[in-house]
Amino acid sequence: MIQMKNVMKKYTNGVIAIKDLSLTVDPGEFLYVIGPSGAGKSTLIKMLYHELVPTSGTIQVGKYDFSTMSDKDVPYFRRGIGIVFQDFKLLPRLTVYENIAYAMEVIEARDEDIKPRVLHVLKLVGLEQKVRRFPSELSGGEQQRVSIARAIVNAPDVVIADEPTGNLDPDTSDGIMDILERINADGTTIIMATHNRELVNARPHRLLEIAGGRLVRDEQGGSYSDED
Ligand code: ADP
Ligand code: ADP
Repeated sequence: MIQMKNVMKKYTNGVIAIKDLSLTVDPGEFLYVIGPSGAGKSTLIKMLYHELVPTSGTIQVGKYDFSTMSDKDVPYFRRGIGIVFQDFKLLPRLTVYENIAYAMEVIEARDEDIKPRVLHVLKLVGLEQKVRRFPSELSGGEQQRVSIARAIVNAPDVVIADEPTGNLDPDTSDGIMDILERINADGTTIIMATHNRELVNARPHRLLEIAGGRLVRDEQGGSYSDED
């Protein structure tokens, strides 16, 4: 599903955020990416959805090899992935329904397919009662559920989540994890960067630890201890 080979990322200011990182992720895996602030987690995650381009090395996601992918392929590549952000990134002037429908409109889904699909994903995240609300009328946890619904509405193969519970309290975070695990159980690969020890330890999945731009641990069901 995902292959990174000898990936290095150097920013224009000279900081090397990722150093010689290689990684293989199989379809259907659930992967945590942990590590201290500044370790390179966001840089890694952004390279996976082609927001950032590696300085050297190769990345392949699904059938797309980034070194040969042209600019016009990028939107097609992005259709196959869903992205969830810590700060939700919902469009404030659109309702819950419209935020999700918009993700289908940009890929030119057929009009008659949009409404049933949007209502279906809203039901999956337990927000069918909130279709007409605006983001500002929802709690943080509800906004994150909308953003997950948006991320999965086009049935991606991979969901990439960068600190999805970073702004949420423990109970709410637990609800978000239930949803991500359900999506994963349906076969979607999940890659989640997180600082949340309690969640990682309560719900063991493959754990990648990044430190100083290097992969220092890759462990199935690993735990997140105080020394990490
Ligand atoms: P994390 O997500 O683990 O906190 P980041 O990937 O954001 O780590 O950052 C890794 C390193 O790259 C840090 O030293 C950070 O200061 C640096 N960095 C991140 N983004 C940029 C940027 N746009 N330009 C220059 N340096 C950056
Ligand atoms: P624009 O080009 O006007 O920023 P986009 O279509 O790129 O609009 O994105 C619209 C919204 O959807 C933004 O909030 C963006 O962060 C989010 N978004 C973009 N791509 C994805 C994706 N693959 N999965 C989930 N959300 C996305």
